[in-house]
Amino acid sequence: MITDVVIAGGGPNGLMLACELSLAGVRPVVLERLVEPSEEPKANGLLGQVVKVLDHRGLHERLSGSPHPPRPNSGYFMFGAMGLDLSLLRDSPVYALPVPQRRIVQVLQERAVELGVEIRRGHEVVGLSQDDDAVTIDVTGPGEAYRLRTRYLVGADGAHSTTRKLSGIAFPGVTYDRMTVRSAHTRVPAEWVDPATGALNVPGHGAVLPFLPHRTEHGGFSYAPLPGHPPLISTTEWDAPATDAPMSLEELRESVRRVLGVDVPLDPPDGAGPHVLRRLTGGNTRIAERFTDGRVFLIGDAAHVYAATGGGPGLNLGLQDAVNLGWKLAAVIRGSAPPGLLDSYETERRSAAERMVLNAQAQSALIAPGSDVTGLREVFTELLSDRSTVQRLADLLAGADVRYDTGEHEAHPLTGRFAPDMDLDTPAGPVRLAELTRNARPLLLDLTEEASLAETPALRHDQVDIVTARSRIPAPTALLLRPDGYVAWASASPRPDPKEIETLGAAMRRWFGVSGPAHTRGRERPLT
Ligand SMILES: Cc1cc2nc3c(=O)[nH]c(=O)nc-3n(C[C@H](O)[C@H](O)[C@H](O)COP(=O)(O)OP(=O)(O)OC[C@H]3O[C@@H](n4cnc5c(N)ncnc54)[C@H](O)[C@@H]3O)c2cc1C
Repeated sequence: MITDVVIAGGGPNGLMLACELSLAGVRPVVLERLVEPSEEPKANGLLGQVVKVLDHRGLHERLSGSPHPPRPNSGYFMFGAMGLDLSLLRDSPVYALPVPQRRIVQVLQERAVELGVEIRRGHEVVGLSQDDDAVTIDVTGPGEAYRLRTRYLVGADGAHSTTRKLSGIAFPGVTYDRMTVRSAHTRVPAEWVDPATGALNVPGHGAVLPFLPHRTEHGGFSYAPLPGHPPLISTTEWDAPATDAPMSLEELRESVRRVLGVDVPLDPPDGAGPHVLRRLTGGNTRIAERFTDGRVFLIGDAAHVYAATGGGPGLNLGLQDAVNLGWKLAAVIRGSAPPGLLDSYETERRSAAERMVLNAQAQSALIAPGSDVTGLREVFTELLSDRSTVQRLADLLAGADVRYDTGEHEAHPLTGRFAPDMDLDTPAGPVRLAELTRNARPLLLDLTEEASLAETPALRHDQVDIVTARSRIPAPTALLLRPDGYVAWASASPRPDPKEIETLGAAMRRWFGVSGPAHTRGRERPLT
């Protein structure tokens, strides 16, 4: 028996892909070598466009515990530990969701199970080979070793990806060995915490804003009071002497003293753990030579890693890899994919990864110690009074400057970009655009006068849902959305002319494989 898709790795990105495939009608098997989800503390939260992507799937509500849509940070943020005044921007792209990775994995696993995904815990991929029809995987499960045939294998098995190694895909890049990051959950003196701003007022040093990296000429410091957890204190130092001793709070206290120049009494945290107490030395910045090899695909950390000192969170990239690949792979399996669709996975996500690496490296360079870097930062500070510079940097750190090539000349400015959320009025009542994308299907949103697109028979297809609505803003008047939330085509005309309708038809063919006038009745999705 051949399975359609096997996903190696049930971390956040593998589980997200499993959900996306399931929504598109393909039931993958997830092989995860750990019997229980990892207790290792990793991400403290999600930053950037991924927060809006999760909103598209109704997962923002589950993760935030709030029914409200995500709201961007429109106050103060940081790039390379330098102030970024987001209030200068009309639309801030910087969204943040402070949820620990363990909780993200738990929510995604629950969702995957709801959608009928089979998750085999305690099953490790140890070998693979491919032929023209399938991939044969060697698996070690609890008390048994077995083989599995699958049409496609996706390696979501993390930075040390077995899938990547067994596929002979190189992982070029650089290893930094100069940086040491120390982190611990601790208690800090309650009277040091400013109740208004949440900042940590360190006597003899000054205020350190929560969650934002703070740089001195001797290194970096951060204070992250995550809700429901003891504050996480971290330092970053360069060229610190190596040690084999186990990490301790005393080591962190000494590091804080070197970085801030004052003593900070860090006490062991209250409450049940697991608590963070770690030292990470060095870091890798690497992008896989290829994201695909025949019937094998890589997503998430298996495809790219970067030293996170300068920010640029990995899940903003990895979860969007999953959302990009899911609908394309499902279309191929269903037999409805247009030629080249699957190739666009690597083209699109490689450029997004390169952009994120640029972001991380630029921020790392700005955080580095030394008076020359201080000089660079002064020049940067002057540039940061300029609104357009702030917009560029905010877009870069949020991953909001990604624009996919749609092959259309003179396209609407939204084409190729992640769709903005919009408040819409429909006969069934008000709805946000993000709420129309929960089922991950292609969507033609018709806001034109007299619903002129929905009334065009040639545009009605089984593959594409059509929703007619009124928008409270005049433009755009129509959007064709891919399941990953990116705009495949858009119009600003109250009544698109035949030429525009032709380009819309071309976009439908290019992305969803629909050809010529419909021979089946189109679906007009009921709005409930
Ligand atoms: C200290 C730290 C802090 C971080 N902070 C942030 C942050 O704040 N925000 C953010 O966005 N990102 C952060 N990151 C990055 C983020 O944690 C990663 O990008 C993310 O874990 C990648 O998810 P993944 O699913 O690709 O891989 P992983 O999380 O590594 O999951 C891979 C899974 O595959 C399984 N596996 C491995 N090999 C096999 C095999 N052969 N067979 C079967 N299963 C296998 C593993 O057990 C694991 O469960 C941080 C990382 C670290 C280390």
